Amino acid sequence: KAKEQGKNQYVFYNKYLDQKRCLDLDIEQELRNALAKNELVLYYQPQYDLNRNLVGFEALLRWHNEKFKHIPIIEVIKIMEKYNLIDDIGRFITRSAMEFSRKINENRKRNIVVSINISSIQIMKNNFVRKIKKYLGEIGADPKNIGLEITETVLLQNIEENIEKIKELRDIGVKISLDDFGTGYSSFSYLVKLPLNNIKIDKSFVKGMTEAEEYKKLIKLTVDTARALKLNVVGEGVETERDFEILKEIGIDYIQGYLFSKPIPEKEAIELLMKEK
Ligand code: C2E
Ligand code: MG
Ligand code: MG
Ligand code: MG
Repeated sequence: KAKEQGKNQYVFYNKYLDQKRCLDLDIEQELRNALAKNELVLYYQPQYDLNRNLVGFEALLRWHNEKFKHIPIIEVIKIMEKYNLIDDIGRFITRSAMEFSRKINENRKRNIVVSINISSIQIMKNNFVRKIKKYLGEIGADPKNIGLEITETVLLQNIEENIEKIKELRDIGVKISLDDFGTGYSSFSYLVKLPLNNIKIDKSFVKGMTEAEEYKKLIKLTVDTARALKLNVVGEGVETERDFEILKEIGIDYIQGYLFSKPIPEKEAIELLMKEK
């Protein structure tokens, strides 16, 4: 009986994998045309300081496709990485965000940082730094108005090489954020070595904070750690005034979340900025 059951599970699992593979291939096919069909766009989610001044935007990819509109973007990104589409689409993401940064920072007193999420495949490429610098030059974006968000899992692969790469970019003024902090395996020794500007606390901690005191303590610990290393802390997934109040009390530096705004199209982001001035 047990053997039978085990076999059933195995068959079931294989069937699931087959289906998933078919779906992935389906998505991959459709994605190959997505750039040409203008289906890929960047949305921008505003980031604020504790006085509710707009200080930056995170660029987040959206795929406007009838068939696959319900697939979470993170799954789409994984497929791009797996099927070698991240080169072209990554270039599109990086350049679009840089153009947006240049545009919104023209004639502004206080600068606005536009942050770009970087995937492991992108940073692993030998020419990663050269490409970023090349785009900056071609587009005329100021490096100090550009941020890169890299997750700890990504950074910890090839740690020594990645340290060199992001150091080179940070040295020209690009802001480096460690994304999804708390969900990976960063240790103190890595945090000391990594040339960072910001730590982004994963939204699962912010969510947990109102339910369990432990999460709040962990966020506090993160803020203390960041202070010791002279880094800033960004809280993401801030959904309620209460979340905001707690994070403010803990002493976080920047916040991002539905309380302020969901990711919005470029046009709306520009309107938002005009109201700010
Ligand atoms: P991430 O970089 O950690 O981005 C934050 C995610 O949290 C975004 O999800 C954002 O929409 C969501 N979020 C922000 N505020 C709130 C909130 O108050 N409540 C809730 N429930 N969620 C909130 P999204 O856009 O679905 O992106 C998911 C992940 O996909 C990103 O996580 C990032 O890892 C990846 N991703 C998105 N765009 C890009 C991109 O252009 N390039 C790369 N490489 N990865 C991207
Ligand atoms: Mg991010
Ligand atoms: Mg994040
Ligand atoms: Mg995340």
